[in-house]
Amino acid sequence: MKKSFTLAMTLVLLIAVFMTACAPAAAPAADDVKTVGISMPTKTSTRWISDGESMVKVFEDMGYATDLQFADDDIPNQLAQIENMITKGVDVLVIAAIDGTTLSDTLAKAKEAGVLVIAYDRLISKTENVDYYATFDNFGVGVIMGTQIETGLDLKNAAGPFNIELFGGSPDDTNAFYFYDGAMSVLQPYIDSGKLVVVSGQTGMDKVSTLRWDGIVAQARMENLLSANYTDKRVDAVLSPYDGLSIGIISALKSVGYGTADLPMPVVTGQDAEIASVKAMIAGEQAYTVFKDTRELAKQTAAMVDAALKGEEVPVNDTTTYDNGVKIVPSYLLIPFSVDVTNYEKFLIESGYYTADQLK
Ligand code: BGC
Repeated sequence: MKKSFTLAMTLVLLIAVFMTACAPAAAPAADDVKTVGISMPTKTSTRWISDGESMVKVFEDMGYATDLQFADDDIPNQLAQIENMITKGVDVLVIAAIDGTTLSDTLAKAKEAGVLVIAYDRLISKTENVDYYATFDNFGVGVIMGTQIETGLDLKNAAGPFNIELFGGSPDDTNAFYFYDGAMSVLQPYIDSGKLVVVSGQTGMDKVSTLRWDGIVAQARMENLLSANYTDKRVDAVLSPYDGLSIGIISALKSVGYGTADLPMPVVTGQDAEIASVKAMIAGEQAYTVFKDTRELAKQTAAMVDAALKGEEVPVNDTTTYDNGVKIVPSYLLIPFSVDVTNYEKFLIESGYYTADQLK
């Protein structure tokens, strides 16, 4: 009797231990859930919507709460949204700045409140209160664009000369300079040798930049370039650093007859693989884009945040490039890809970034 009682007790104990081990971990108390404030610049470009949505998903899957805001490309609006997040007590800020130089005062408040600050895709300058930078190899993006023009015009073999016009991104976004410099690292030797001719003579970011990455501004500039310089010549290539600009540039080109057998479209580049531009590639209007997988950037950002909050080593792969004027911001650079009509299905559809229907 005593023996079977002991056996029964042992069994009960074992079952209890087993059940405790298998019980789901207790959900963190509401106070333990950390909140990530995500500040994106605008909804006018679909990439930022994808970035925002991917981040909400990744962070929430990891057990964080999120507060996602878009700032309509309006600087005071972005500052107000971020200050509001700080007041509400976020633990982390992930910011894709409209103008990377305007955040110093706001981030001083973030610092005081002990908030971790990540610059997302765009560097935040003129402040020490930015902890990490998650982005793509921005110079590499520019090199891809320059190489696309080199390939598209077969510059290595063709005699030329070819006519080209250059567009730059927003001068308040440091990325724009990396893109331009990367592209020119490939194109400048051809300009120097005379194989490429910038007929307008407009070179350098002070002449070719496009404030706020505005496609309408790019369209107007392309119209002016065409009417002032190309009434008796054709333009063979246009360096465009963003799909939203490319669409404006293509409209200007079409309005004076480009895109026909007699007057084929020049080689137009782009960036972000936005749906309108992928459709333009399929239609033979835009030659190339650069694909930056925003899902990967969201994952990388979340990994950096998670490591930093846990006091673990934060994954970075560049500690020399991104000097923001006050410090070198430790960065993680992801790899961008050249996409055209021959490989968009692999990069954009097979990877699940878009459905085939979205591109019809
Ligand atoms: C981003 C690009 C984007 C551009 C316009 C840049 O900061 O790196 O991917 O095309 O902003 O939104």
